[in-house]
Amino acid sequence: MMATKAPTRLKDITCAFCQGTGRDPFGIMSPLSTCCVCGGVGTVAIESPYVQCAFCNGTGVYPHSRLTCTACEGTGATPVDEPNEPCPNCLGLGVDPHSEAEFYCAVCHGAGVVAKAGSRPGGHAVERGHKATAS
Ligand SMILES: [Zn+2]
Ligand SMILES: [Zn+2]
Ligand SMILES: [Zn+2]
Repeated sequence: MMATKAPTRLKDITCAFCQGTGRDPFGIMSPLSTCCVCGGVGTVAIESPYVQCAFCNGTGVYPHSRLTCTACEGTGATPVDEPNEPCPNCLGLGVDPHSEAEFYCAVCHGAGVVAKAGSRPGGHAVERGHKATAS
């Protein structure tokens, strides 16, 4: 039996918030307190494929704050569907252009990219880019 949908593949990446140290980078509670994102492990599991969180530039830190990025939850990466294209709402910036509070873009969830229109899981993939020219 062929699975119609690719199984979720979790990939361990370096925790962006603590940069893999496992410690709270800002030491709000204590310099020795564990990172709230990875729980002190230094890595986080993220669904693959993923892209660097455009909203926080992959830092895992909410812009202009010492809080975890709400878009990627501090991991610095956001799972995306493939194929994908730059988000038309935020133009790939991951920031809601209509919000003055610098909220992440709700369309792409801060990723800066969205699933390419026309490509649906289980649907017939549009063939493109195949050059028919014989060599
Ligand atoms: Zn961490
Ligand atoms: Zn982020
Ligand atoms: Zn967007």
